[in-house]
Amino acid sequence: MSETCNHDCSSCGQDCASRQAPQHEAPNPNSRVKKIIGVVSGKGGVGKSMTSALLACAMRRRGYRCGILDADITGPSIPRLFGIHGRAMADEKGCWPIQSRMGIDVMSINLLVENEEDPVVWRGPVIAGAVKQFWTDVVWKDVDFLFVDMPPGTGDVPLTVFQSLPVDGIVVVASPQELVSMIVAKAVNMAQMMNIPILGIVENMSYLVCPDCGRQISLFGESHVEQIAAKHGLSVLAKMPIDPELAKLADNGGIETYGGDYLSGAADAIEKLL
Ligand code: ADP
Repeated sequence: MSETCNHDCSSCGQDCASRQAPQHEAPNPNSRVKKIIGVVSGKGGVGKSMTSALLACAMRRRGYRCGILDADITGPSIPRLFGIHGRAMADEKGCWPIQSRMGIDVMSINLLVENEEDPVVWRGPVIAGAVKQFWTDVVWKDVDFLFVDMPPGTGDVPLTVFQSLPVDGIVVVASPQELVSMIVAKAVNMAQMMNIPILGIVENMSYLVCPDCGRQISLFGESHVEQIAAKHGLSVLAKMPIDPELAKLADNGGIETYGGDYLSGAADAIEKLL
């Protein structure tokens, strides 16, 4: 224990004997979830939701039952990727996710509000409370892998989410033009504080393939993700290009029909958790 210990383990990365296990919230009694994967990014717009959705599709194709808990309450984009626009229903057992065409269970604030274009203007604790309820009140029935599309950054809301949900592993999503080094360091520190393993880094928007000559163009400059990952003892799980087809499918709600297999390395790492 450090001499300056204030007994608040969430603000300290030391792995000392007096570190208290986080008090996770109990899930809905009708839920059966085997593994929870948190998908994080340093800022919005780098493809965190896209990666969450594609990872769930990849694991579903491998025969696993998957769910996505859209914890990005102020920028929920998971239902749109899957073309889901219905309203989630509740009964005496709890609130039920809506299933995608492939059979992926999805819960998002957009499935609960009357008008999906209404903005969520809540303060941090209320947002964190809503995410907790997506765990405590939603029936995640027989789910092998529950992907949590986290709010971007390492602020109060993601911290509360990590404390409330028993997350088994974190996937960090970054784009080459971000200050990847700083973002990875922050994610590593947060994961250490929470005692959650980082499965590795997915670099999204790594390059663009020229449709005429097939050459790979590094739109955001050369990537240094390998060096940064090595510095923290992490693996680079995948490098995903900017793919206009992916953007189109995302806008049309057809993400499940995407043929690219860029995330297979990440899927392998996730599969090993079982
Ligand atoms: P985040 O969850 O990090 O805010 P999103 O997953 O919502 O980011 O992605 C931001 C935008 O970029 C979306 O419009 C999405 O369709 C698009 N996008 C993400 N990754 C790719 C990619 N590899 N190729 C093409 N478009 C992408």
